[in-house]
Amino acid sequence: MQSSLSCARCGDTLSAPALALGSAQAGPSSAALCRACRQAPPPFVRAVAYGLYQDRMRAAIHALKYDRLHPAARELGRMLAEAIAQLATEAPVEMLVVPVPLHRSKLNQRGFNQSRSLAVHALAFLRKSHPEWRLTLASSTLMRLRATDSQAGLTPRMRRLNVRGAFSVSDPAAVASRHILLIDDIFTTGATARAAAQALIRAGAASVWVATLARARLINPFNRGSRLQQEDDPGLPENPPAIAAQQRSIYSSQDQPSF
Ligand SMILES: [Zn+2]
Repeated sequence: MQSSLSCARCGDTLSAPALALGSAQAGPSSAALCRACRQAPPPFVRAVAYGLYQDRMRAAIHALKYDRLHPAARELGRMLAEAIAQLATEAPVEMLVVPVPLHRSKLNQRGFNQSRSLAVHALAFLRKSHPEWRLTLASSTLMRLRATDSQAGLTPRMRRLNVRGAFSVSDPAAVASRHILLIDDIFTTGATARAAAQALIRAGAASVWVATLARARLINPFNRGSRLQQEDDPGLPENPPAIAAQQRSIYSSQDQPSF
């Protein structure tokens, strides 16, 4: 799913200008990294996703968030398993699988964490397709300490600040020297994945890998660095007026519930 035009770390699409910029400014070795990963290397080794956050995928994720027994859950879990399988040749054979947690208030409201549901289903598939992989679900390891503000209209750096310190590890001894596979439903700028991975690394994790179901991408590269679609984590956006209509047409993200 990730072509040669994707960032080797976060999987973001590399535009032609970004490629040219990368090779001109930083040499060929970093040409396969997006600007965000060049400027601030993420604490995770690599992030993979099954597909784009659009159309039927968006509808299915939306349905999952409102109904834990939704028929889409198993199928989405299979897709997540496919995404995780992209890591099979490079990730450690033994990993703790950590779903990105919801804040307690959100968990109480929704009744379940969709990322955990996805992880449970994905692991069931992976046990058959990759029996050599020893993946252990550890869904209470990571805690979300606070509900984060809306990410709408924030720059990538502001998003990182917004979620900085939002996560904590309940039992550092449980993750010390362990390899972690972090699971979330949607990856946008990666601010949430970065913050969660940072908390795990600080607690002593040996490495963090990230797998999400869907990756949100901006169509217009001029938006990048200034205005981005809401994060995987966001409150629901009052989109900046200048691009609100465009974002609606691309993502229809307005109907996505806040976290
Ligand atoms: Zn990147």
